[in-house]
Amino acid sequence: MRRLVAGNWKMNGLLDEAMQFVAELGENPAPEHVEMALMPPFTLLHPLREALSAKGIALGAQNVYFEPKGAFTGSISPLMLRDAGCHYVILGHSERRHIIGETDDVIRTKLLASWAVGLEPILCVGEHLKEREAGKTNDVLKRQLAILEGTDSGLPLTIAYEPVWAIGTGHTATTAQVTETHAYIHEELNRLHRHCRVLYGGSVNPANAESLLACPGVEGALVGGASLKADSFMEIVQAAAKVAA
Ligand code: PEP
Repeated sequence: MRRLVAGNWKMNGLLDEAMQFVAELGENPAPEHVEMALMPPFTLLHPLREALSAKGIALGAQNVYFEPKGAFTGSISPLMLRDAGCHYVILGHSERRHIIGETDDVIRTKLLASWAVGLEPILCVGEHLKEREAGKTNDVLKRQLAILEGTDSGLPLTIAYEPVWAIGTGHTATTAQVTETHAYIHEELNRLHRHCRVLYGGSVNPANAESLLACPGVEGALVGGASLKADSFMEIVQAAAKVAA
């Protein structure tokens, strides 16, 4: 299974910056055994489509609405993402769960709608610091993963474990925490008859990428801040290649 290094640009990136970024990635950026993907804001999906595909980099979106079309001002449908060349869509990112208020039910509806048009969801799960401190991490993850119950296990899926307290904070989980939590997630996925990649996300940067990616059960990284610059993103990709070799 190839490791995936995916860049989530969040609400960052203008056209010139994005084109410059892609140029700086070089001719053939994806090493053997590593898949690269980029999730820019919606406005950059169409403009980046050709440039990324020419470099073997998959395109993804950061969110989607679950209805196929209609009077939903400001929303983007799953089919629109396919039309823009997306393979991936991030669902359940903690910023959407906690800032926008998305519930597990809404995320499940989005998951089904994404599968219906052939998108591969990257489902984000993760606990708050208070929940970890109270020993509730596994309970939270179990609840968030329960939306997979009863879904077709043959459909494409990637999970991203992103402890909320590690996202955009510079506080990375320790390798012991990552190893232990990924083991639990894989156990739970097995119970749900799901065999898919589990990424780690949360302040991954060039300095910590290799040790995080080397943890058992970590099959790639979802990278926010450090994916905004081509050189730091590529250093993380190289770390993934080193670990995968
Ligand atoms: C993210 O947005 O998914 C993320 C992990 O962000 P950062 O790498 O900046 O913590």
